[in-house]
Amino acid sequence: MPVRLLILLFCLLTSATCQATILELRDGQVPVRLVEQLEYLIPAQPLDFAEATLAQGWQRGRGSALNLRRQTGPVWVRLALYNASQVDDWQLEVEWPVLDRVELRLYDPQRRQWGAPMVAGDHLPLAQWPLPARQPTFPLQLPAQELRWVYLQVQSTENLVLPMQLLSARDRVQQELEQSILLALFFGAMLSILLYNASLYLFTRQPDYIWYNLYLFGVVLYELSLSGFGTLYLWPGLGLPGGLIYAGSAMWSFLAATLFIRAFLRIPRYGGWPLWVSNALLVYWGLALALVFIEPHWLFALGVNSMALLTCLLGLAIGFSLWRRGNQSAPLFMLAWLSLIVFTFIHVAAIEGLLPVNALTLRIQTLGFFTEFILLSVALADRINRERAARVEAQRQMLKVQKNINEELDRRVQERTEQLQQTHEELERANAELTRLSYTDALTRLANRRHVEAQLPLMQGSDLAVLMLDIDHFKRINDSYGHPFGDRCIAAVGEVLRQQVRRSGDLAARYGGEEFIVLLRGCPLSAAELIAERIRAAVAQLSLEHEGLPVSLTISVGLAHSGEAGTEVRALIGIADQALYQAKQGGRNRVAVAR
Ligand code: GH3
Ligand code: MG
Ligand code: MG
Repeated sequence: MPVRLLILLFCLLTSATCQATILELRDGQVPVRLVEQLEYLIPAQPLDFAEATLAQGWQRGRGSALNLRRQTGPVWVRLALYNASQVDDWQLEVEWPVLDRVELRLYDPQRRQWGAPMVAGDHLPLAQWPLPARQPTFPLQLPAQELRWVYLQVQSTENLVLPMQLLSARDRVQQELEQSILLALFFGAMLSILLYNASLYLFTRQPDYIWYNLYLFGVVLYELSLSGFGTLYLWPGLGLPGGLIYAGSAMWSFLAATLFIRAFLRIPRYGGWPLWVSNALLVYWGLALALVFIEPHWLFALGVNSMALLTCLLGLAIGFSLWRRGNQSAPLFMLAWLSLIVFTFIHVAAIEGLLPVNALTLRIQTLGFFTEFILLSVALADRINRERAARVEAQRQMLKVQKNINEELDRRVQERTEQLQQTHEELERANAELTRLSYTDALTRLANRRHVEAQLPLMQGSDLAVLMLDIDHFKRINDSYGHPFGDRCIAAVGEVLRQQVRRSGDLAARYGGEEFIVLLRGCPLSAAELIAERIRAAVAQLSLEHEGLPVSLTISVGLAHSGEAGTEVRALIGIADQALYQAKQGGRNRVAVAR
């Protein structure tokens, strides 16, 4: 039967407005993307299949994919197919796995017969689908050279997008294989990024990694439901609750993204409008997430699609603002965020009919997520690296300060030690002077008796001569000329002794008031007698004057000598003292030698 005739017949039989074209399926044209060949109907009240065929108001599809946006009730889609090919296993694939429910029936206009109903969609367990597939796929029994109507009743909570294609079972398996490999690669990559960043969290304990991973987890879940991988492999028997995963994971991703951005860009630290925006977004997406499980329809009243777009732009604006305020993590973040936005916009533009719908534009958001998470992972590592470098630098500065302090301390200690050393030397000098003073007689500047006592143990030996000297009638001098003159006399005798006893090793000292002692070492008796006599004579020859009148001064000397035997020195002093007494007794101004 010629095709034209068939169309005529078809028009008569359906009594529709008959603007629909018949899609003639030929060999070598596959796959066939369906848009303009489709008619859709948004009914005012619920219809069944028979009623739908008779309903008015069918409209022609336009653009590169049928996009009916948000619909509360079921919508109808139909197309007429004439199978002029050799293929007998045609399949219709709806490339939008998040549709709640899709029911398909074939209608044979010639025999006025309906085929068996087939249902698929993410509110139904996979077992009820006609084919186990990622997305609703229906096998079509299209006998060769015959006309069939395909009627679809579609229901969706989310945007009702209907990218559809017709292809043979073999072609679909081939196409599915290619797409599955790409998707598996994507999920494998995302999983390894997730594991990598989770292990980074274990090592670094940076809370940012928690938000990053929660965000990534949300996106993986979202992609699993959007690609149909989840329904096919992970939750095939779940039915309706599984359908909530798409919206739930989307809201969760936005919430986690907001939390991640907040932590990663340190928004609370910067404050200002970015913090307010971040707070508002947190509240909004928290609420949206709750609504998915309470009343999903309210999400649209909350403007969830516009908010999704706004959140993307606000994220970029916050990144830009913080970058201008010196946030060094912001540029990489903006790059990552921008890559997702650009790819998402391409995806949305395709869905909205601004760009052609094809395998690339339908899946490009996935690529956006992939680049975003890779870049964010790099940004995180970069930030941690930078913070570590800053810590090392701070430590270096601290060490420098500490080194300076130590040097200053060292310097002060050194200074103080030098001062102490100086003081010590001064003290030693003072001490030596004190010692010298304590052993010196102030009036005559000869050694004093204490010094003699200290020296006595060293004086022991042979040929030691001891001279005891005493000024004669000194009481009388004191009484006649006064004490100060008496002192002058003592000093004068001292001066004589200093001059007469010069040999090193000999010692002349003031022994008492007007008494002196002379110790001569290694001095034979005869030499000692000579010295004693010389001293006596020198004193007698002193020319002392008091108030212009000459005053004569004499001394008596007692001499004792140790001899060969080496008499003990203290005993010698006693002997010398007795000799002195004898000198006094003998008339004074003389030397008496103890024998
Ligand atoms: P003699 O010839 O027997 O030694 O007669 P003398 O008067 O010297 O007798 P004596 O040795 O007993 O007298 C010592 C006197 O020397 C007593 C004291 O007043 C006086 N005298 C002792 N030490 C000092 C002193 O440092 N300065 C003065 N001016 N007089 C002193
Ligand atoms: Mg005396
Ligand atoms: Mg005297």
